[in-house]
Amino acid sequence: MTSEPALRLIMRRLREIMSEPGDGQTRLDKIVKQIAGVMVTEVCSIYLKRQDGSLELFASEGLNPGAVHAVRMKRGEGLVGRCAELNVTVNEPEASTHPAFSYRPETGEEIYHSLLAVPVQRSGQVLGVLVVQNRAQKEYSDEDVEVLQTTAMFVAEHLVSGAVAGAGTAVEIGKSLSALIQGEPLSEGIALGHVVLHEPRIVVTKLMAEDTAEELARLDAAIAALRASLDEMFGHEHLAGAGEHHDVLEAYRMFAHDKGWERRLREAVEGGLTAEAAVERVQNSTRARMLRQNDAYWRERQRDLDDLSDRLLRILAGRVTSADEPSTLPPDTILVARTMGPAELLDYDRKRLRGLVIEDGSAQSHVAIVAKALGIAAIGQAGGVVERVGAGDATIVDAITGEVHLRPSSDVISAYSDKVRFLARRQRHYRALKDVPAVTTDGERVELHMNAGLLVDMSHLKESGADGVGLFRTELLFMLSSTLPKLERQVESYRAVVARAGDKPVIFRTLDIGGDKVLHYLRQPKEENPAMGWRAIRMGLDRPALLRTQIRALLRAASGHELRVMIPMVSVAYEMDEVRALVEKERGIVAAKGYEAPARVAIGAMIEVPCLLYELDALMKKTDFVSVGSNDLMQFMFAADRTNARVGSRYDVRSPAPLRALKALVKAAEKRKVPLTLCGEMAGRPIEALALIALGFRFLSMAPASIGPVKTMILALNAARAAKLLDELIKKDARNIRGEIVTFAKSEGIEI
Ligand code: PEP
Ligand code: MG
Repeated sequence: MTSEPALRLIMRRLREIMSEPGDGQTRLDKIVKQIAGVMVTEVCSIYLKRQDGSLELFASEGLNPGAVHAVRMKRGEGLVGRCAELNVTVNEPEASTHPAFSYRPETGEEIYHSLLAVPVQRSGQVLGVLVVQNRAQKEYSDEDVEVLQTTAMFVAEHLVSGAVAGAGTAVEIGKSLSALIQGEPLSEGIALGHVVLHEPRIVVTKLMAEDTAEELARLDAAIAALRASLDEMFGHEHLAGAGEHHDVLEAYRMFAHDKGWERRLREAVEGGLTAEAAVERVQNSTRARMLRQNDAYWRERQRDLDDLSDRLLRILAGRVTSADEPSTLPPDTILVARTMGPAELLDYDRKRLRGLVIEDGSAQSHVAIVAKALGIAAIGQAGGVVERVGAGDATIVDAITGEVHLRPSSDVISAYSDKVRFLARRQRHYRALKDVPAVTTDGERVELHMNAGLLVDMSHLKESGADGVGLFRTELLFMLSSTLPKLERQVESYRAVVARAGDKPVIFRTLDIGGDKVLHYLRQPKEENPAMGWRAIRMGLDRPALLRTQIRALLRAASGHELRVMIPMVSVAYEMDEVRALVEKERGIVAAKGYEAPARVAIGAMIEVPCLLYELDALMKKTDFVSVGSNDLMQFMFAADRTNARVGSRYDVRSPAPLRALKALVKAAEKRKVPLTLCGEMAGRPIEALALIALGFRFLSMAPASIGPVKTMILALNAARAAKLLDELIKKDARNIRGEIVTFAKSEGIEI
C-alpha cells in the first residue's frame, strides 16, 4: 500500500459517502467499512466522546455488531482512552499485552493483536478516536498513520457539522461549540482562562520503570497508605454497625487487603512496569476475568476494584487530596469541579488560578470565602458544568452575573475585554477613594475593616484603604500547612501579619476548625453534623494545648502592640471566663520567659450562636468587644446550612427577624459601651451594609474587594434617614425589605 493512492482513494470514497443521502449513523458505518477496506485492516472502529468524558463505540467494521453503542470506556481507560486523553497516536503491535489495554469481551477483539488509534480532534479538542486493528502482530507504517490521521481530520470536520453520527451525539458534538451556563457568583470578578478538571482520572504516562526496587517500595508505601485510609474510613462512627453499607464496605476493604491483588501488582512491577502501570495492568486483567462471569455480583466487585485502583493511582501520583500538581497547571487555570472544599482549593497553585466553577456551593461556604481571599473569580450552582467541559477548553467566568461561557466565540471574548476594561475603570474609582474616610452625608463615621487569612492578603490593607483587619482567620495558615504549625512558626507568621499591618489594628480569630474546615494532619473525629459539632472554641477548651500554643504565639507576636483576639463559636457567656483564664495563664508564662508583653490585650467574642443573643448583658461584661459572625449566626438562626445553596438562598438575612436580633445587639452593646463589629459576608454587600448602618453598626469587616463599593454607598448615604426607614420596615413586618432598600437608595441617588 502506498500512501498517496490510499489517501486519495479514501478521501474520494469519503466524499462520495457524504454526498449520498443517509443519516449520520449510516454514514459512519460506511466510513469505517471504507477505511478497513482501503487500509486492509480487519477492524476499523470509531469511538466518540460522551458528555461525561467516556468514549462510546459508535461504529465498527470487524468488531461484534452488538458491541456498537454498548461498549463504553471511562475517561482515560484503555489504549483508546489514553489516545483521547493524551491526544496522542497509539501504535501497538501487541495491544493485549500493553499495560493500559482494557479488555472488553463483548467486542470479540481478543483475536486482534495490532492496534493503531488516532484522536479525532478539532481545534485541539478531542471528539473521539479512530481505531484500526489487525490479527497479525505488526507495527503500522508511517504511511498508515498518516492515512488514518488525515481520515480522522475529515471525520472531525463532518462530526462538527452534524453530517455524521447519530442524534445521541448531538450534544456531545456541541461540546466543541460555545455554551453558556448560569450559576451564582461566589467570589466577584471576571476571569478568562482554560479549564482544568478537578480530580480527573489519573492518566498513566510512564510505563516502564528505571529502578524496579524503588518502584516496589513506592507500590508498598501506596498500598499501605490506601489500606490505612480505608481502615480509617471504615472505623467511622456512623459507618460502624450492621447494615448493607457495612457489607459493601467490608467487601471493599477485603479487596484492598487481598494478598492475591497485592501479589499480582508486585509481579507486574517486578516485570519492569512502573507502579502506576502495574495498577492499570492488574485492573485490566482482573476486569477481563471478572467480566466473563456475567452476573451482577461480579459487576459490582468490578466497580469496587475500579474505584480502588483509581484511589491507588491517586496516592501514587501524590494526589491524596486529588489536587493537581502545581507545575502542570496552565497559567490561567479555570478550575472546574462538582464540589470542592476550602482545603482542596488551597492545594492548587494560587498564582495559576484565575477562576473556579463548581456545581454546588453557596456564597457563605468556606470555599467561596477562600476564593475571595485569593482573589479568584468563582461561580457556584453551575449545574452540569463538569459534563459539558473538557480539559483545556477556553472559558470565561463572569462571577458578577454568574455566567460561565464555555468555548466563547470571538464576539463574546471581545465583549468581555470591554467589560474587563469597564471594571478596571470602576476599580480606579474605588482606588481613588482609598484614603477618603467612610463618612455618611450626615457625618457618621463608619469604620471599614477587611477580612484576611493569609499573609498575602495583607497587601490589600493599603490598596483597599481598609481601617484595619477586622477578622484574621488564623485557620488558613493551618490549612495550608502539611503538618501542625509549631509555636515558633506561629509566632513568626503572626508577627509578620502585625508588621505588615503597621499602625492599623488586627483582630486575630483563634482557630476555627471543624465544619467544612478540616486539617488533614489532625485526627478529628468524623461527625454527623460538623458545623454544629466539635469545632472552634469547643475544641479549644476541651483540648487546650492547641489553643494555649496559639494564644502564646499571639502574645509573643504582638509584643509592644495592641493584641486583639476573638473567639469563634462561643455558645454560652461563661466560656469567655474560661478563655480569659487561659489567656491570663499564658500571659504569665510569656512574661516569665522574659518576652515583652503586648501594650494591651483585648479579648472579644464572636456572636455566631443564636443562644448568646439572650445572654447579651452577661456576655458584654465578660468581653472587650463583640463581633457578629453573620454567616454562622444566620445559618443557625434560620437552621439553613450555609454551604447548601438550596436552603441557603431560601431565606433572606434582610428579613425582620434577623434584623430585629441585630438591632437588639446594637442596643445591648451601646448600653454596656462595648465595641460591636460584624464580619460576615453580609457586611460586604452594599444593600446589607446599608441596612446594618441603619441599625446602628459603625464597624464592619469584609473582603477587601468590597470596601470600595461599600464606601461608595456610605459616602452618599444619610444614616438618619436610613435608620428611620429600617425602623419602620422592621416594625411593620415588611416582606420585601431588600426591594424597599433598593427603592430608597435609588431615590437618594445611592449607587448600590
Ligand atoms: C461568620 O461565621 O460570619 C464568620 C465570619 O466566620 P466564618 O465565615 O469563618 O465561619
Ligand atoms: Mg463563623
